[in-house]
Amino acid sequence: MTKTKTDYEQIAQQLKPRFQAFIDGKYCDTISGETFSCHNPATEEFIGDIAHCDAADVDKAVAVARKRFEQGVWSQRPPEERKEVLLKLADLVRKHTDELAVLESLDTGKTITDCLHEIGTEAPAFFQWYAELADKAFGKIAPTGPDALGLIVKEPVGIAGAIVPWNFPFLMAVWKIAPSLAVGCSVIVKPAEQSPLTALRLAELAQQAGVPDGVLNILPGMGETAGQAIGRHNDIDVVSFTGSTEVGRMFMRYSGDSNLKGIGLELGGKSPFLVLEDATINDDLIEHAAMSAFWNGGQNCSANMRQIIAAPLVEEYTARICERVQKFTLGDPLDPNTEIGSMITPEHKQNVMNYIHKGNQEGAKMLMGGDLERTGSYIKPTVFTDVTNNMTIAQEEIFGPVLGIMPVQSTAEALQVARDTDYGLHATLFTQDINRAIKTARALPCGTVSINGFSEGDIKTPFGGYKLSGSLSRDNGTEAIEQYLQTKTIWINVQ
Ligand code: NAD
Repeated sequence: MTKTKTDYEQIAQQLKPRFQAFIDGKYCDTISGETFSCHNPATEEFIGDIAHCDAADVDKAVAVARKRFEQGVWSQRPPEERKEVLLKLADLVRKHTDELAVLESLDTGKTITDCLHEIGTEAPAFFQWYAELADKAFGKIAPTGPDALGLIVKEPVGIAGAIVPWNFPFLMAVWKIAPSLAVGCSVIVKPAEQSPLTALRLAELAQQAGVPDGVLNILPGMGETAGQAIGRHNDIDVVSFTGSTEVGRMFMRYSGDSNLKGIGLELGGKSPFLVLEDATINDDLIEHAAMSAFWNGGQNCSANMRQIIAAPLVEEYTARICERVQKFTLGDPLDPNTEIGSMITPEHKQNVMNYIHKGNQEGAKMLMGGDLERTGSYIKPTVFTDVTNNMTIAQEEIFGPVLGIMPVQSTAEALQVARDTDYGLHATLFTQDINRAIKTARALPCGTVSINGFSEGDIKTPFGGYKLSGSLSRDNGTEAIEQYLQTKTIWINVQ
């Protein structure tokens, strides 16, 4: 039976969130005893004091993670056994979906509907998919002559650090935990300080599924403390980071200043949504345009906020997108009818509002949106038109519900505007001409191009960015596991 807002409020009343760090299979206070406070951004209510891990706690977690890796309790376990454990974990996440989704919604202001989907459907599918890969990864044999046998084998890299953002807290953590555990690494996760609760709860579900103590450790803390300590640690072998480009650059430096650990970067974006002149403006296109921008309140790395529209279609497009955007329901994240919840923090709301002011100052025309004055950090979905590519709102990642319509005169201009950004994460393209679609997709420097619909692909397709949107690493697909593997050659002389 479909649950109501009252049902979710009742689940919220019964929650007993974990606030301590999870190290070596136990919830524990930090060595310093420090904590930081956690609030519900939609109601501004205090939730709890969270363990504020720093370098000492990272040292403690790394020591045990290394010990377990060397003991082989997980790294040397037959892959079919790792598979069984991760399949159990997928089931446990499914069983606890309501609880986890409510927890995530309270922690972030995300809508319950999105949380249920990300946690109940997507996250278990990730555990399942990487579990199933665990015992299907084969090595290679080099083409040698008869006097040698050259084996090319993959080994787990050792300890993986996972640094995750707040916009999809549970799912982003799972994007990294599932492939790294599947290949046998020990893992240390630092959730974002704005959204630590569901990752902390996941730890005990993983333990219940059979992940050995010390193999998965969750260390909440600030970026400058726990995050930096992970980045600079000499005994962490790889860090997979999802977050802003600015902090991504820091991880490259941390690595250079320490043990040259591998760094995988999934960073920000400013993605285009191109409607070429032969496209038909219909309900489907408008729905994709609206969702590409306002899904998760625009707090999405692949949000298509640069909507580049062929001039002859602009008038119709603008009228229809505004009509659709008016219909978004904003409000209580625990209400299943809500489509857009709260921004993550009051400070983030202020940043987004500053961009809206800037858009107005720089001459873009605001058609709808702006502040929503009520308790919590709400912003109405905002639409600007007459946006030109030199404007701040066309170039900088706003990470909030601010869409800009950019009229262009030709496909060549559409492509030129789409390419003219520092980022390269995603693009959507609408056209009826398959040749034009393929040529344009090839010419767009970004990690995912989605044609005649907005999509990030799915679990089977790699996700990551060109240019300042990422490094060569990818999350998702079989590519994700490469982040957590080393390649070894074993050369055997045959006599
Ligand atoms: P952020 O970079 O501020 O924080 C991300 C993580 O890094 C957090 O855990 C944070 O505590 C940590 N951190 C912050 N400062 C640090 C420091 N000095 N040293 C070490 N760690 C530090 O990003 P955010 O605001 O949490 O997330 C939003 C950003 O994430 C956006 O730019 C968005 O585009 C990006 N993002 C990218 C993807 C992707 O797959 N490409 C997915 C989601 C979000």
